[in-house]
Amino acid sequence: MFLQGRRALVTGSTSGIGLAIARTLHGEGAEVVLNGFGDEGEIATLREELGGAAHFGADLTDVAAVEAMMADAGVIDILVNNAGVQHVSPVEDFPVDKWNLIIALNLTAAFHTTRLAVPGMKAKGWGRIINTASAHSKVASPFKSAYNASKHGIAGFTKTIALELAEHGVTANCISPGYVWTPLIEGQIPDTMKARGLSREEVINDVLLVKQATKKFVQPEEVGALAAFLCRDEAQNVNGANWSVDGGWTAE
Ligand code: NAD
Repeated sequence: MFLQGRRALVTGSTSGIGLAIARTLHGEGAEVVLNGFGDEGEIATLREELGGAAHFGADLTDVAAVEAMMADAGVIDILVNNAGVQHVSPVEDFPVDKWNLIIALNLTAAFHTTRLAVPGMKAKGWGRIINTASAHSKVASPFKSAYNASKHGIAGFTKTIALELAEHGVTANCISPGYVWTPLIEGQIPDTMKARGLSREEVINDVLLVKQATKKFVQPEEVGALAAFLCRDEAQNVNGANWSVDGGWTAE
């Protein structure tokens, strides 16, 4: 319970990776603040599971909504910028509204939450900023121009704030997963089987895991465990790093 007395805001924590991070930090004693969309009843159940956690349904692409959330959330010791979306399209057809959404959520929202959380961290002389980037912060895949740009952007942003905050007891790091087994990915398998005429195994191994050398999906809990490690005092000199959790994808 090494996070007792710490307050952690995890954006996009009503689902997938963010939820796993929130659960892990709560399991280590942190008071967790949730953010994200979803069914009201399910969010109420999650809040109860996580010790009566506060929840903010703020749309992080709306600067005023981010500012209101950060004002109401109080002092945050651990900020996990995790909320993100994807859109796949050739660049010449890429819808402008999708480009703007992806950059606003995956990149610009992290700037706003960070600039608003940093004064409290500096005042305490302790803080952790963890940004969920992606293997696509290091390498590209075609048809993901906005996503790749946003994830390369968050990697550069993280390095910059790591340098700025280093002498204030605040670290900033990225976690960069490959394919993570979330309901989002699981739901794509039947459609891909149909579209490509492949078996479930072929979709998993030849489409989804083709670059993931372990041929295994990352589990959301594995990302949660790494996030918890980065919050340890022993990780005080782990700063400005971009941690791959991609089964070896970006080693190639
Ligand atoms: P997910 O769809 O399961 O969860 C996304 C979360 O973001 C949800 O809580 C959702 O409500 C929230 N969200 C969406 N739009 C929002 C908005 N405008 N304002 C506030 N919250 C919003 O996705 P996931 O797979 O858990 O992905 C989480 C992060 O991990 C993303 O940044 C994603 O790019 C990154 N990532 C995912 C994978 C993967 O394979 N699943 C791989 C690498 C990186």
